[in-house]
Amino acid sequence: MTGSPVWHPFTQHALQPAAIEIARGEGAWLETREGTRLLDMISSWWVVTHGHRHPRIVRAIKDQADRLDQVIFAGFTHAPAEELARRLVARLGPALAHVFYSDSGSTSVEVALKMALGFWKNRGERRTRIVALEHAYHGDTIGTMSTGARGVFNSAYEPMLFDVVRVPFPHEGREDATLDALKAACADGSAAALLVEPLLLGAGGMLTYAPRVLREMREICAASGTLFIADEVMTGFGRTGTFLACDQAGVTPDILCLAKGITGGSLPLAVTLCSAEIFDAHYSTDRSKTFFHSSSYTANPIACAAAVANLDIWDEEPVAARIAEIAREHALFLEGLRMDARFSGIRQCGTIAALDLCVADEGYLAGVGPALYEFFLSRGLLLRPLGNTIYLMPPFCVTKDELGRAYEAIMDAAATFGRGAR
Ligand SMILES: *Cc1c(COP(=O)(O)O)cnc(C)c1O
Repeated sequence: MTGSPVWHPFTQHALQPAAIEIARGEGAWLETREGTRLLDMISSWWVVTHGHRHPRIVRAIKDQADRLDQVIFAGFTHAPAEELARRLVARLGPALAHVFYSDSGSTSVEVALKMALGFWKNRGERRTRIVALEHAYHGDTIGTMSTGARGVFNSAYEPMLFDVVRVPFPHEGREDATLDALKAACADGSAAALLVEPLLLGAGGMLTYAPRVLREMREICAASGTLFIADEVMTGFGRTGTFLACDQAGVTPDILCLAKGITGGSLPLAVTLCSAEIFDAHYSTDRSKTFFHSSSYTANPIACAAAVANLDIWDEEPVAARIAEIAREHALFLEGLRMDARFSGIRQCGTIAALDLCVADEGYLAGVGPALYEFFLSRGLLLRPLGNTIYLMPPFCVTKDELGRAYEAIMDAAATFGRGAR
């Protein structure tokens, strides 16, 4: 029992200490009610991109709240939603011509799956199977859990999860197994869509793969008519070094999911973009072909205004230079670890750096994850290792000095918990 009625996400209340109350946030920093400062090196669970409370986003939220807070989005529209959709299409290119709003990453993926299934149904073709990658994570709703990796996180719900065709993760040197499995999955024309996290599988352990593999997966889908869904909920908005991870492979998906960074991490909002072909398959005087999806807060005006301000920041501030600077610092730090036997699996994708700490006891439920988390907290850092995988995903406003603190803390953690430590 705790003193609070709040039930926290992914939290075992019997084992974890009381939640830390945060009273303020600014830039890369969080401040507790008692005034302790924490460096937010995971962007508050992968959402905050330009730092907490970026002035332009705060201003846009305040201004919009003064005009229109919420309105039904069926039969009605508003300026922030129209502008955001236009600006997204202008930025991402005409192949993704339509923008469907929702309010979380999971929902944006559910929408993508429904679009894909609706596309085939409305075209009168029986394609219902979803192909997904080993170690994938696409959210925590029943549908997205079905497409994600199975394990301790979802074993209780297993009876409700639908089957997907699982393709092996493209480990370096074993990419052909992935591509061959995908070809086989697409061969009989029953696959509705491939759903992938481009270049980087986040919750699956910050696993990276080469742009070439993403491009080849896209080509296999195109050749068999299988829809290609890119889940860029985490990788979008600069995390991997480019605006989208797909950009590095020169790939345009049929359906694209964006959420987390879309408002700069200030408010919940998500979009699912799709090709004209998918929209057109639902465009009919036959009402049964309507895309039947909505959530109460679809295209909330305040969230859309925050997202427009986020795009203004991308257009007018040196975001790409900030990202490149973080990537450079990460690369320098990681280079120094390559000969260090206490680390393995050293990897980087743009602003995200990850490594596995070599300890006796590996795996997510092994005690080292929580121990590392507490260790970093005691050093004034918010880091949330996935088992023995330590990763950094800072907001783009982070300074060289702040990154230096995190690197130093990782070295101290290795001295304390790494193989051979006393
Ligand atoms: C976080 C995440 C989701 C789910 O987003 P929510 O906003 O938490 O529902 C989906 N896909 C990927 C790749 C994610 O990282």
